[in-house]
Amino acid sequence: MSLYRDEGVVLRTMRLGEADRIVTLLTRGHGKVRAVAKGVRKTTSKFGGRLEPLSHVALLCWKGRELDIVNQAEVTEAFRTVREDLSRVAKAFTVLEVADQLAQERHPAPRLYEMVLGALRALAADDSAMLVAGFLLKALALEGSAPMVDACASCGAEGDLVAFDLLQGGALCRDCRRGRPVSPAALEMVRRVLGGGLAGVLVEPASAVTEEVAALAGGAMEAHLDRRLRSLHSSPVG
Ligand SMILES: [Zn+2]
Repeated sequence: MSLYRDEGVVLRTMRLGEADRIVTLLTRGHGKVRAVAKGVRKTTSKFGGRLEPLSHVALLCWKGRELDIVNQAEVTEAFRTVREDLSRVAKAFTVLEVADQLAQERHPAPRLYEMVLGALRALAADDSAMLVAGFLLKALALEGSAPMVDACASCGAEGDLVAFDLLQGGALCRDCRRGRPVSPAALEMVRRVLGGGLAGVLVEPASAVTEEVAALAGGAMEAHLDRRLRSLHSSPVG
């Protein structure tokens, strides 16, 4: 077996036997990795609480056939301000759940990795109402599945877009309208996120518009993944 170094964010963990855990990480260099942390559930574990979801860790792992084995783990960022705040934790878990769904095992996805780390850092700094929606829209764009919001997704007409339909792939004009109605302000906010203006959008206070964009982005990601996001529906803060 060969040893490798990488860094990663812990996405989730699962019990394995009496004392071990399988840790799923999104790493910078190896994509999604599942690794066994031996003895992690013993009080004397050398890993302590390091391999908990959310932690950004530096790793030394043995490469295995299916599962790797964690040899060393050091916490680089614990994201304590996120952990200690229920609202932020809920948002962070949506980011982790989506990353888990999008990333493939041992298939490097450095841009997704940077986006996840960036989202967690932004969340540590500020509990932004647009954090999750911003992440979801940027992740969809990375996948080549961003909703069309500059022109009617059905006929291509520009201007006067009044509805949003996921099956059509985005915003729709008055003639083609179906799906849910959408406000011009929400479409403008989606355009800002997709057009490189995420930083400016993240400081927007919570409003009916941010809620509209959050619902739209969540629906678009669920349609893309073809499954419901558990973390998006289990929290009172959305
Ligand atoms: Zn149209």
